[in-house]
Amino acid sequence: MRPFVYDHPAQRVIFGIGSIKQLADEVRRLGASRVLIVSTPAERRFADEAARQLGPVAAGIFAEAVMHVPIETARAARKRALELEADCCVSIGGGSTTGLGKAIALESDLPIVAVPTTYAGSEMTPIYGLTESGIKTTGRDRRVLPATVLYDPELTLSLPPGISGPSGMNAIAHCVEGLYAENANPVINLMAAEGIRALARSLPIVVRQPDNLEARSDALYGAWLGGTVLGTVGMAIHHKLCHVLGGSFNLPHAEVHTVILPHATAFNREAAPEAMRLIADALGASDAAEGLYDLAVKIGAPTTLKEIGMPEDGLDRAASLATTNPYYNPRPVDLAGVRRLLQDAYEGRRPA
Ligand code: NAD
Repeated sequence: MRPFVYDHPAQRVIFGIGSIKQLADEVRRLGASRVLIVSTPAERRFADEAARQLGPVAAGIFAEAVMHVPIETARAARKRALELEADCCVSIGGGSTTGLGKAIALESDLPIVAVPTTYAGSEMTPIYGLTESGIKTTGRDRRVLPATVLYDPELTLSLPPGISGPSGMNAIAHCVEGLYAENANPVINLMAAEGIRALARSLPIVVRQPDNLEARSDALYGAWLGGTVLGTVGMAIHHKLCHVLGGSFNLPHAEVHTVILPHATAFNREAAPEAMRLIADALGASDAAEGLYDLAVKIGAPTTLKEIGMPEDGLDRAASLATTNPYYNPRPVDLAGVRRLLQDAYEGRRPA
């Protein structure tokens, strides 16, 4: 067995249908009595529900979270937390909302109770992102890691198929790259393979029957595992490419993960054979990259960069950005190889 380091910060995770009812107990457990609740304007109903559950310990709601955490929004939310003398932040929503909670915690040490409503996985990571003057920077800081994460599958019932599918593929991407991470370890490998298995079997049901609570639970369980993998081991070419395409070309986060994943996997096919075998097995496919592509098609998710807004004349620049300061990757990252990968993803070719 390869030597490894297993460095996994403790988090409390509550998982279950109806677990939102435990929110007040969880906040009390942290010794908090003045809670700031954050959400997006579109998910304000979740913030209102959280306030109902919290009763008198709900100090206020900041329902202005937006994608990519603009610094102005972060500052306004931090100011609100100070004015309210908040001693805890409940973030309830997708990755954009969790991101705002993290931006508050980064400067205040407020403990976060995260209640995720998509499959993005940010709630399980010490990674934060902030956008200033159009440039998104990310960092790692244990202060932003939510103290408690409450997963209630009922909150995901309203996710439409067009968001559920790509969001689930985003979670699978964390698992795929975890399996060939530079600091991979046997425990995370188990979680990553199980995460792919759970999402691959549940997503086709979730998009056909969005109110199937059993499938929703399975998908959210897979998302938890994906987030744990992302928070614990390093990522590679796939995440680097998605960061470049999202940051420099403003492509939608979950969709770009969905389109790139089969091609990034094919790129690493020969360099990470054991990971490929585990991914293929978890998908019930004979090849990892083909299996991921076929899953995206099956759940009606996008398969081409073209359809999610990538300009073809931007592919050269994207390839060059992705190969400057590349992340670790099992196969050495070269400009020509990455440019080919991007062309395949642009056209949505099934990786052969
Ligand atoms: P998001 O939070 O923007 O949500 C996507 C869409 O789903 C939005 O329109 C939102 O209004 C809607 N939505 C959310 N929950 C819903 C529900 N239950 N029912 C109906 N609609 C719902 O996007 P996301 O994909 O969850 O997260 C993406 C963001 O998170 C990106 O900015 C990404 O960089 C960040 N992220 C960070 C990490 C990390 O570790 N720091 C990990 C993953 C993602």
